[in-house]
Amino acid sequence: MSQVTILKNAHIFDGLSDELMENFSVVVEDGIIREVSQTSTNVDSAHIVDCQNRVLMPGLIDAHFHAYTPSFDILANDRMPPALLASHAAKILEGTLRRGFTTVRDAAGGDIGLWRALEAGLISGPRFYYAGKAISQTGGHGDMRLADEVEICACTSYSGSLTQIADGPDEMRKAVREELRKGAHQIKLMVSGGVFSPTDPIWMPQFTDEEISTAVYEASTRKKYVMVHCHTDDAARRSILNGVRSIEHGTEISEDTARLIREKEAFVVPTLSPIDLLNDRGQDMKVSKTSLEKSEGVMDKMLYSIENCIREGVSLGLGTDLLEHEFHPRQGAELELRRQVNSEIEILRSATSINAKLLQMEGKLGCIKPDAFADLLVLDGNPLLDLSLFKDQQTKPQKLFFSLVYLLFFLIYLKIPETIQRLL
Ligand code: ZN
Ligand code: ZN
Repeated sequence: MSQVTILKNAHIFDGLSDELMENFSVVVEDGIIREVSQTSTNVDSAHIVDCQNRVLMPGLIDAHFHAYTPSFDILANDRMPPALLASHAAKILEGTLRRGFTTVRDAAGGDIGLWRALEAGLISGPRFYYAGKAISQTGGHGDMRLADEVEICACTSYSGSLTQIADGPDEMRKAVREELRKGAHQIKLMVSGGVFSPTDPIWMPQFTDEEISTAVYEASTRKKYVMVHCHTDDAARRSILNGVRSIEHGTEISEDTARLIREKEAFVVPTLSPIDLLNDRGQDMKVSKTSLEKSEGVMDKMLYSIENCIREGVSLGLGTDLLEHEFHPRQGAELELRRQVNSEIEILRSATSINAKLLQMEGKLGCIKPDAFADLLVLDGNPLLDLSLFKDQQTKPQKLFFSLVYLLFFLIYLKIPETIQRLL
């Protein structure tokens, strides 16, 4: 027998509209939204949730997430035994859901094992879109070997928990096909240097056009797409010209490149949280001097990029890219960080409907309308006026109540006082 839940007296942000839809009811049947209306529908035996004029919105989507990063030391993460890494991931995923993120897109290492554990309910966490191991060239952002590390055999290539090496179109083709065979929802490439990798300058171009276009072609054979780690304008431009759909970090994107991204209907996913964290806490975080030097000025360059993207009408997603248990609670603060250059409504769309489109899940995720998954947040506050209510989840966990009501139905209450929790 189907299970019906009716959420009534809700002010709805539907993931798209500029204004709240006041005093609406939402009918949910077996985890799917069936009806959104102003008339109060009655269904015998329905479970009723009175939202008491609170805001109801789609669950947040984090489009750049790392489940397998319990430590800020990515070299250590990449060499961690799988069972230990998975145990850490379970904690990180549970915390993510409690912060109101009901979907994440994993950008390195997330795999079918974690996905199946979530689907089977063995661990609790958000919907999980994984890339498998990110693919890097030798000496690129995903090569975690130190410069003075001795190779036992020159014929072996590096492969860790999060990343793997492929050089040349043939190795790329094989690596992408392997990840797709293992069910990857998207493919991740490293096309520029990075902040935390040991041997590559951040400005370094990585992978040739031919390698990138090979990955894009192979992904397209399964109607999948490529996302790229990218810190330079040149890397963003080359990626777009070779068919990449999702530019991660998007540092230093010029107006010309932004225009090209919009013309190709691709996306940029800015990730301000790690750089904000390094600026805030970098000196006492055991981060290498080289990484701190590499991160200098990156925040300003990311903000400059976002402004260029807004001017040219690029679809901006939202991602957090956070590492380490201690810092994952800063996840919700990404929304407020974006206020430096975006309005509240633009940021909310980025975190819901635009991210959903990026994940090829338009109409199913990131919206409140019939046929969408009922991943819903009840908020004690109006996010169109104040995005800090997501950030506050890191400091007031005692005010947070989470309930996995039915299979495939996330209903999460954020910042609701204890008295109300008892009524729900
Ligand atoms: Zn990256
Ligand atoms: Zn990342």
